[in-house]
Amino acid sequence: MDDCIFCRIVKGELPASKIHEDEHTLAFLNIVAAHPGHALVIVKEHVENLYGLSDAQSAAVFQATTRVARAVKAATGCDGVTLFQANEVAGGQTVFHFHIHVLPRFKEDNLLPFWKASAPGRAELDEMAARLREVL
Ligand SMILES: [Zn+2]
Repeated sequence: MDDCIFCRIVKGELPASKIHEDEHTLAFLNIVAAHPGHALVIVKEHVENLYGLSDAQSAAVFQATTRVARAVKAATGCDGVTLFQANEVAGGQTVFHFHIHVLPRFKEDNLLPFWKASAPGRAELDEMAARLREVL
């Protein structure tokens, strides 16, 4: 993917303030940060979104994200950390190379809106769980 910004960072063609690197992952600071310390953790291979990750990539990227989240917490003194990971346009994805945002959060920063939730009945929950098990 010659035009992919994250692939170009992996190849060293674009600069990045790197935090962590291992066989499968790379973590660096987001150049458009919600707060200082806003980091991105990506898989090195061009994988468009969550659905395409191998088990090894999936394990590695969450392990790296955990380490980066601890570092963001320790280095920024933030009050909390939110992980944000989007898939496809409808899911809010804007860069189509798998990544996880590690967002330092501060009390009452109002960074992310919370969704309106409903409480479906048990029958509806069980029916959806059955549909999910069928395709898992
Ligand atoms: Zn890419």
